[in-house]
Amino acid sequence: MGQTLADLPLRDDLREEEPYGAPQLDVPVILNVNENPYPPDEDVVADIASSVAAAARTLNRYPDREALGLRTDLAAYLGHDLTPAQVWAANGSNEVMLQILQAFGGPGRTALSFAPTYSMYPEYARDTCTTWVTGRRADDFTVDPEHALAQIEQHRPAVILLASPNNPTGTALPLDLVELICAAAPGMVVVDEAYGEFRRDGTPSALSLLPKHPRLIVTRTMSKAFAFAGGRLGYLAADPAVVDALRIVRLPYHLSAVTQAVARAALRHSGSLLARVQELRARRDETVEWLRGQGYRVADSDANFVLFGTFADRHAVWQGLLDRGVLIRETGPDGWLRVSIGTEPEMAAFRAALQEVTA
Ligand code: PMP
Repeated sequence: MGQTLADLPLRDDLREEEPYGAPQLDVPVILNVNENPYPPDEDVVADIASSVAAAARTLNRYPDREALGLRTDLAAYLGHDLTPAQVWAANGSNEVMLQILQAFGGPGRTALSFAPTYSMYPEYARDTCTTWVTGRRADDFTVDPEHALAQIEQHRPAVILLASPNNPTGTALPLDLVELICAAAPGMVVVDEAYGEFRRDGTPSALSLLPKHPRLIVTRTMSKAFAFAGGRLGYLAADPAVVDALRIVRLPYHLSAVTQAVARAALRHSGSLLARVQELRARRDETVEWLRGQGYRVADSDANFVLFGTFADRHAVWQGLLDRGVLIRETGPDGWLRVSIGTEPEMAAFRAALQEVTA
């Protein structure tokens, strides 16, 4: 008989834990993991393919450990006069965030966030043996400044994680709140802008705060706006000393030559890749309005997804949609569901299925 997980000398705090992840189901309309629904255009595909071929010719060698070419391109994309020394990249912003907790969290230290928020945060904390605590968001999913300050005072966190726009609620934080938190924080403040490019007008990026706040980290990803989730490339901007800290904990050669080459190719096409962002933002706003018109509670969204509800039996609604070929996400506070913004035909299928299920 083979052994099972229970037979292994697994860390006590990992017993009974399940691997993270949404169901991966093969259905016609996939709106559950906040992907960009548009695959890259053929000219981008061709550039990526020839970049992979060039990288392939060097695969006997380790890649550039510092990924300097890529970091230079990312700094140029971000603007704000950022230099490559202020930019760091890893395999998805998930890995960036894990490295942040490896460097600044750890045993005896605490990470603070405000729930409901991205469900991977407690896992990064667990994996780095960092104590995880959450304050709460208000009914409209904003963060109350006085509550935030009280939580900081109580927990003295080594790391504060602020998703803005937040997942799963779509809520962006005003910059004066981020500044208030930076001023009060005893440690590092991370603003996770995975969905930054989807913000509505008038909700600026925390990148502009970096010169004033040397312990602020702004993370981004190419997974969403760049339609590059499969490429696995996340990055951050921070003070060069913060980047030096992350270089201590990163694995040597963590970013493969292929990843670096492919991400640089995608960045050369940022114009055409990002062109769809406007379209997705407009469709997001239409989806919010349509859902409100149907009588649902809908969280204001600055992201490429919408949280809506509330349902007495949300699982039944989720299952009903799935039975009609539409996969969304059962996440967020009790009674709420989250739908990612897809193509217009995909959203039409979502609307029709929801009307049928709730008729
Ligand atoms: N942060 C937030 C808030 C997210 O929602 C996600 C993806 N769902 C990530 C980070 C991680 O994205 P990736 O690792 O693909 O960059």
